[in-house]
Amino acid sequence: MSAHAAGIVHGGAETIEAEAARLLATGAVDLTFVTPGITSARVRSDGVDHSVRVAGGRWECSCGARFGCAHLEAVALVTVPTVCDAVGIEAEP
Ligand SMILES: [Zn+2]
Repeated sequence: MSAHAAGIVHGGAETIEAEAARLLATGAVDLTFVTPGITSARVRSDGVDHSVRVAGGRWECSCGARFGCAHLEAVALVTVPTVCDAVGIEAEP
C-alpha cells in the first residue's frame, strides 16, 4: 500500500491549485506584510523567492504573472480563501 500524500506531485505537470497547495504545505509561503487591503508575501518555489503583492484588489507577482500563478494562488489560499477563484478572473468589482 502506498502512503503518498494526496496532491503532492513532483514534476512540471501539476495544476496551479496543486502547486499552490504544495507551496503552502511545505511552508514556502511567508507573509511579510498584511493589512486589510494590502498583503505582501514571499513565496519560495524551486529555490527562487517570488514577491507577491496584493493591493486594492490587484495581484502582482515577481514571476511576471498578473494572475493565475501558483504563488498568487498560494497567498490567496491563506489570506482570502473565498477569493481564490477571483485570482483567475480579470475584473471582479
Ligand atoms: Zn508568481
